Amino acid sequence: MNITVWNEYLHEKTDEKVARVYPKGIHGCIRDFLEEAGFEHVRTATLEEPEHGLTQEVLDNTDVLFYWGHIAHDKVDDVVVNRIFERVMDGMGLIVLHSGHESKLFKKLMGTKSNELRWRENDEMEIMWNVYPGHPIMKGVGANVVIPHEETYGEYFNVAPPDELLMISWYEGGEVFRSACCYNRGRGRIFYFKPGHETYPIYHMPEIQKILVNAANW
Ligand code: ZN
Repeated sequence: MNITVWNEYLHEKTDEKVARVYPKGIHGCIRDFLEEAGFEHVRTATLEEPEHGLTQEVLDNTDVLFYWGHIAHDKVDDVVVNRIFERVMDGMGLIVLHSGHESKLFKKLMGTKSNELRWRENDEMEIMWNVYPGHPIMKGVGANVVIPHEETYGEYFNVAPPDELLMISWYEGGEVFRSACCYNRGRGRIFYFKPGHETYPIYHMPEIQKILVNAANW
């Protein structure tokens, strides 16, 4: 399986706090745990590379694409967005992470103008409840996953209704959120997974890594 991990890779270069959490970038952290899990062909790509590192050749040789973006969604070239979209239609798997919810790509796949939600950065605890224990992505995941501190995302989340809803999050502030959603588009499968605000070490958590490894296999 060929995996490409795409990260905007801007916060890590400008914010010391983020660089401390992810010295190799969020993409580097994800690549490392995927390799530790046994995937042999994992490459990374970032926004500032030519064609954002997502040339036709790279995408043609990608079975699963991880996508993390936040502050520069508008800087992602429409040509590249359309190229990824076409690959999903042809059967490439796509894992959209955290603030990737507002990327041009995910909105195009959802058929929405904005995938808006409520949010707050308040260091709140998040409990992700497993509501589909029989799903392959939930293999080995218990009743819940507790994240000690995370950015709060709350409903209403203006996405298309998920084809399969795997997790619902609860936050200390009382919000709830559909935090692990599966979609089928064309021949492709899409997994939206909410955790992963850049200032918290969430992609270092073994339970989060397990879910993302399962998602790549799915
Ligand atoms: Zn965030």
